[in-house]
Amino acid sequence: MTIRSNHGVVRCLILAVCILGVWPAHAAASAAIPVVTLAPKPQELGHAAALIVIPADAQPIAEYAASELARHIELATGVALPVLKESSIPETARHRIYLGGTQAAVRAGIDVKALPSEAFVLRTVDGNLFIAAQDGPGQPLDMDNTFSGTLWGVYEVLERGLGVRWLWPGDLGVYVPKTRTLALGPYDEVITPRFVHRILRPSINPKHPPNGDLRLAFIEEERERYAHEQTVFLRRHRMGNSANTYFVERTAGSGHSFEGWWEKYGQDHPDWFQLNPDGHRGPADPSKPKKHSMCVSNPELHEKLVELWKEERAKHPGGPLNIGIGENDTSGACCCPNCLAWDGPPPDLNGLPPGLERSYTPTQASNRYARFLKAVQSLAAETDPGVKVHFYAFENYFWAPSQDITLNKNIVIGFVPWFRWAGWFPRTNEEHEWIKQQWLGWQRSGASVYYRPNWFLDGWSMPHIYPHQFADAFQFYAKNGMIGTDFDSLMGQWAAQGPNLYLLARIHVRPDAPVDALLDEFYSAFGPAEDTVREYFQYWEDYSIKNREKAADSIKTRREGKFRRYAMYALVAEELYPQEVFEPAREILDRAAAAAGTSPDSEYAQRVAFLREGLNHARLCVETAKAMNDPRADAAARSAVLHRLIDYRRNVGAQGIANLDRLSVIELESWKDVPGFAESATAHENK
Ligand SMILES: [Zn+2]
Repeated sequence: MTIRSNHGVVRCLILAVCILGVWPAHAAASAAIPVVTLAPKPQELGHAAALIVIPADAQPIAEYAASELARHIELATGVALPVLKESSIPETARHRIYLGGTQAAVRAGIDVKALPSEAFVLRTVDGNLFIAAQDGPGQPLDMDNTFSGTLWGVYEVLERGLGVRWLWPGDLGVYVPKTRTLALGPYDEVITPRFVHRILRPSINPKHPPNGDLRLAFIEEERERYAHEQTVFLRRHRMGNSANTYFVERTAGSGHSFEGWWEKYGQDHPDWFQLNPDGHRGPADPSKPKKHSMCVSNPELHEKLVELWKEERAKHPGGPLNIGIGENDTSGACCCPNCLAWDGPPPDLNGLPPGLERSYTPTQASNRYARFLKAVQSLAAETDPGVKVHFYAFENYFWAPSQDITLNKNIVIGFVPWFRWAGWFPRTNEEHEWIKQQWLGWQRSGASVYYRPNWFLDGWSMPHIYPHQFADAFQFYAKNGMIGTDFDSLMGQWAAQGPNLYLLARIHVRPDAPVDALLDEFYSAFGPAEDTVREYFQYWEDYSIKNREKAADSIKTRREGKFRRYAMYALVAEELYPQEVFEPAREILDRAAAAAGTSPDSEYAQRVAFLREGLNHARLCVETAKAMNDPRADAAARSAVLHRLIDYRRNVGAQGIANLDRLSVIELESWKDVPGFAESATAHENK
């Protein structure tokens, strides 16, 4: 969040009042306001000294923001503040917390209509607190509700005024320090989200079971509940978009823009498609008609893309419309002389860390794609100078283009580092630096760049921990022009990978905070077990770093030409996490449990127990992987261990320790060739 203090403005206005003898448009910010005051007797609850006021015609977002504010204040103090519409406030003078576009905000000189879509004002005036923003008509939990500023303002106040932390989805993950009294403010700020889109793809569909082994997935009620709680969590961490950005505008084309093109245009316009070394145009393998790249240096292709965009545009008069031009998950493979000329001289591969060859296979095509983007954007700009062109820097066009190529802000690049086995977190320092340099190269070209990694898909259910290196990368991008994020995906292994996921969400709101300060927020929610829980996750982070080369090597060795690192992680888990590495971790958690205390009512003890389920689950997953991956294991032994895992998941499914749907997909992908596994998984699904 960007914080702009208005103190200087306020001082100038007060000076103007004194000199000119007139009152400013808004009253000066005043002191903190009392919200809950002390009861006379220690055993009694405090008194509600304030009410929460929403507009008479409140939108759902303001109503939801009010319920979130009241709920957390009650968790902190035990006192339920009344929530009232502005039209029905009693005369009795109590302090008021005004949410959204109230009449009182207008009288206080706050013009919410002048604010950008997600911005909000925090201001204390004459004993009242204003959390004011433009409220749109959308639903509060809809990620595409671009008018969520009032809700963001409430969360800002809960974090700063009450010390609330949202560790993971569900009630146990809500940490609210207890207090007998509460005052809020003083505030005088306008805050706008730092990034125009903040996305952690949720990786669960509340209405549909996954394409995995359903015995290992959520049961229906758990799926819906998990999906809901995760959405609430993501909104608390301000996930969503601003209005009027390229991201929420309609796009002609998509991330993978040329799907279906060969069938549609291949016969009449083979020259739009890749030229293969054997001289034919189109898919290298004719039996795979969707697997092709384009001949992106062909001006006829540029004209066709702009023509299609104009057709879409005519259907939506007045509305902005972008052009999406990304290849269909393929490398750029055209070997025609014009495309090769656009590439320029082959790059210097000296110093390229091993395993990152994907960025120049079969050739290094970033320059040709940068020229392509510029050609299409310039052509479309003749019709609409504001048009934006969107592209994924991926595969062999991930490497930054040469410095002589200049792009502009209307060319929007999704930065997608993607290598088969190398480069994942935690990575070697050489890989880490090389990937940063590619970001800098795209950013220096003049394009707008956002982060669209796949890294968080990795690790299955293992305690695969890497917050420091991840934060270093994120903060580097944030300091170097990052306009937004789109993480594919949130795997939801909350109990096993808590610090990774807390940091992933939290760093979107506090991108400039020291990483250890953010991690300390997470650990402090364990009360007296704080230090031991930090030690526990440090053990796993050290383990992940120590074994990073081994992880890459094991995965590379087993890939047999088709291994996808994250999707088939359960094929190598017992090699990466042998049972003996869990023992020291269990011992640390035993100490954490002792420190947290034995009372079953203790939230600290319950959180340590939550982590313990993550550890138990990981061990059981490894035992299962060992039996499934051992060709000598007999069917009965395999079945027994698999059913132990299934039974365990039935017991813990409702606790939200892990997104079981995601795991079930990885497990089916990993073990589909194990005799009997896929058949019994499918038989169950067909029941
Ligand atoms: Zn070509």
